[in-house]
Amino acid sequence: MSQRMQQGQPMVIMGDDAQRVKDKDAQEYNISAARGVAEAVRSTLGPKGMDKMLVDSMGDVTITNDGVTILQTMDIDNPTAEMIVEVAETQEDEAGDGTTSAVAIAGELLKNAEDLLEQDIHPTAVIKGFNLASEYAREQVDELATEIDAEDTATLKSVAETSMTGKGAELEKEVLADLIVRAIQGVTVEADDGSHVVDLANLNIETRTGRSASESRLVSGAVIDKDPVHDDMPTDFEDANVLLLNDAIEVEEADVDTAVNVESPDQLQRFLDQEEEQLREKVDQIVESGADVVFCQKGIDDLAQHYLAKEGILAVRRTKKSDMTFLKNVLDSVIVTDIDSLSSEDVAPGTVQRDTAEELFHVEGPDAHGATLLLYGSTEHVVDELERGVNDAIDVVATTVSDGRTLPGGGAIEVELARRLRDYADSVSGREQLAVEAFADSLELIPRVLAENAGLDSIDLLVDLRAAHDAGDENAGLNVFSGEVEDTFDAGVVETAHAKEQAIASAAEAANLVLKIDDIISAGDLSTSGGDDEGGAPGGGMGGMGGMGGAM
Ligand code: ADP
Ligand code: MG
Repeated sequence: MSQRMQQGQPMVIMGDDAQRVKDKDAQEYNISAARGVAEAVRSTLGPKGMDKMLVDSMGDVTITNDGVTILQTMDIDNPTAEMIVEVAETQEDEAGDGTTSAVAIAGELLKNAEDLLEQDIHPTAVIKGFNLASEYAREQVDELATEIDAEDTATLKSVAETSMTGKGAELEKEVLADLIVRAIQGVTVEADDGSHVVDLANLNIETRTGRSASESRLVSGAVIDKDPVHDDMPTDFEDANVLLLNDAIEVEEADVDTAVNVESPDQLQRFLDQEEEQLREKVDQIVESGADVVFCQKGIDDLAQHYLAKEGILAVRRTKKSDMTFLKNVLDSVIVTDIDSLSSEDVAPGTVQRDTAEELFHVEGPDAHGATLLLYGSTEHVVDELERGVNDAIDVVATTVSDGRTLPGGGAIEVELARRLRDYADSVSGREQLAVEAFADSLELIPRVLAENAGLDSIDLLVDLRAAHDAGDENAGLNVFSGEVEDTFDAGVVETAHAKEQAIASAAEAANLVLKIDDIISAGDLSTSGGDDEGGAPGGGMGGMGGMGGAM
């Protein structure tokens, strides 16, 4: 192989370091890189999946089970592998869950495609077959899906719990599922056409350490984890006029670097008086707007703090940008960017209450839209992973409410799709038929890995699952807790149809993208571009994936 590349030397159109890999070698190289990524996340799939500990270049540690988090933290430095990471990111954006499944299926599709290529089936036929299969499988997802109502709290809780099992959020999944479903229902409005619109901009998550996750709760309005800037400020208001300000209440710095030459004590005093006056003016403008409470995104000068306190105004400085945006939603208000343009129309009515025990503010608008999920965890790492799990579950429940379609989990849907795809393959002519069958096999990776990760016999279980589906039991899946093949929908292992469609589509697209490449022209040395790995011809493995080693 390296010989071959040396033979390629006379390519004068390319620089000295350039390398070129063609045809089968290119495919082999790409497939092994992509499979490397898939294998890295496989062991995390499902409720019994393991976690990964990721250490970044700064030494910060993340412990997670979340596919997209793992891949994003892995510092992958191989173009093909990066395409697979994009699958996970698209899946996360579109569905909020199913990232590990999507990547694992993409890897399995490529593994099975490699076998077909070895049988001298042209990549074009494989690609076409995969496209047919992906489309057919998605049609079948829609047919198999169970429609649920936005008020079907019990099923929605199952969806949330299924999404959280195996994650840090699992221990308290019942409490959390209840909070998540109530939170989503609270920000859902029914459109004129009867469809449900979930406005996630009205839902915020605030994390706190030092307490058990079971104490997490849902509060209406916003929670701001900040202190007043001055001890003498009032902290509780029934009917406050709230001002959201993204402008510093500080002396304005001169535009250009002007040195101020102070020649006498008089001059110094005048200078200080000027500054004082400027601050006084800013505070007066705030007073004139009628504001009782100011959430300022920038800083507040000590003297201005004192003036504000004297005026009986509550002020908070350096409020997080995300909190400002959320406050704007909750209060239905605006964020003022220039104190000079401030008017009484810029302040919004609301209630502001201090929770002294928790040291935070609780802000509500008059029509009480917007809610905050206050998440507790014992430590920083725990609460971070909890938040990731809860965020996924929120997305999944939101999708389920707006999309309305659910599926049985635990591999049930994949086995049923595989069965239907094999039937469908009979109607596909030529080599494409083999690719459709390979697609069916690839979907069955999900129940196989769920079983493997739970320490169960994956071969026996797949046989049982296929038998149940052949006998007409469409919902037969693997419940990893009982280790039994059963109706997973009834057992409460429920997934959203939208995420499954997306996972199938993006896995197929990624596999096809990789298969379409028959020529890799690299400006640098391919075998070392990925990191510190020594040599190795591209086809021989993952030379370009040296960057992964450090993270895993
Ligand atoms: P992903 O990133 O793909 O969402 P997860 O680690 O969240 O990966 O695992 C999702 C898979 O776990 C789905 O196939 C889902 O049906 C399955 N699953 C969840 N709960 C159970 C359970 N109790 N028994 C079997 N499978 C389950
Ligand atoms: Mg998941």
